[in-house]
Amino acid sequence: MPKKITILGEKILPGKTYQIKTDIARLHTRTKVEVPIIISRAKVDGPCVLLSAGIHGDEVNGVEIVRQIVAHKYNIPDAGIIICVPVVNVFGFLIKTREFPDGKDLNRSFPGAKNGSLASKFAHFFMNEIVEHVDYCIDFHTGGDYRFNYPQIRISDDDDYTFNLAKIFGAKFVKYSSEREKSYRASAVASGKKVLLFEGGKSLNINPKVTEVGVTGVLNVLEALGVKNFPESHTPFKEEKEQVVFNESKWIRANASGMYRSLVINGEPIEKGEVIGLITDPYGFFEKKIKSPISGYIICLNHSPIVNQGDAIAHVAIENIKTN
Ligand SMILES: [Zn+2]
Repeated sequence: MPKKITILGEKILPGKTYQIKTDIARLHTRTKVEVPIIISRAKVDGPCVLLSAGIHGDEVNGVEIVRQIVAHKYNIPDAGIIICVPVVNVFGFLIKTREFPDGKDLNRSFPGAKNGSLASKFAHFFMNEIVEHVDYCIDFHTGGDYRFNYPQIRISDDDDYTFNLAKIFGAKFVKYSSEREKSYRASAVASGKKVLLFEGGKSLNINPKVTEVGVTGVLNVLEALGVKNFPESHTPFKEEKEQVVFNESKWIRANASGMYRSLVINGEPIEKGEVIGLITDPYGFFEKKIKSPISGYIICLNHSPIVNQGDAIAHVAIENIKTN
C-alpha cells in the first residue's frame, strides 16, 4: 500500500501531478500573489526531492533551471515525489528585486514565525507546509548584482553523504561553506534535510551554460537517488570531468574606483601575483593593476564595468588539500 501523503491540504495520490497555487500573503494593494508549487508523485514510493529557485526574486537563472526541468517533464518521478517551486519569492520576481516587499531578505528570515513579518511568515509557511515533507533539497541561486558565479555546489561541513551527492551533481566546483544564520539552508539542514545549494550566474540574467550545469546536475542526483531512471540509450546528462573541492576562499577587492576590465577567465586557475584586472579612469591618465594575493581558482567575477574602491571583484577559492 503506498503511503498516504497530504501536502498543502491536497491528498497527493500515486501517479499524479498537482499544481497548487498558494496565496499566503497579499500585496499592499490587497492583490493576491500566488506561488505555484508543482508536486508529482510516482506509483512507487521513494524519496521526496524539493527543487526551489527564486528565494531571491532577481535570481532568474535558477528559475530557468527549474522551469526547464518541469518543461521537459524531468519532474515526473519513477519513484518517490518531486516538488518544484520555480519562484519562491514571487513578490521579488514581479518587480525584479532580491527582497520581499517588506524589504526583508527571505533567505535571512528562516525558519520564520507564524505571525512575523511578511518574509518571516512566508518562511514559516515554506518550512512547515513544504520542506517538512521532503528528504532532499536543491536550492538554486546566482551571484548578487553583477557578480557572476561559476556554477558550483555549496554544502555544509562534515557531512560525507551530502558531499557525495554534491560530487554526483557534477558541477566543476564543490565548496564547503558555513551556513548563514537564518538562511533556508541552515533551517533545512537543522530539520535533518540533505541540502545542495547551487550557485551559478548573476542576477537578472540567464546563461545557457549555467542552466545546462543546473539541469544536468539535478538529473544526475535524481538518478543516483533512484527517483528517475534514464534509459542508457537516452542519457540526457553529462558530468564535468574535472571536479575541484574547496573549503576556503577569498574575495579580491578593487584597490581603486574607476572603470574595470577583467583579465582572467571565470572557473580557471590563477597564480599568486597574477594581474587579474585593470582599473582606469575614463580619460586615459590613470591605470591600476589588481594582482591576486593568492593562488586558486576563480569562482566568481564581477561583471560591472564600473567599480568603487573596496568592491568585491573576484572570488578565489583555494583548493582543498584532501579532495574527498
Ligand atoms: Zn540567492
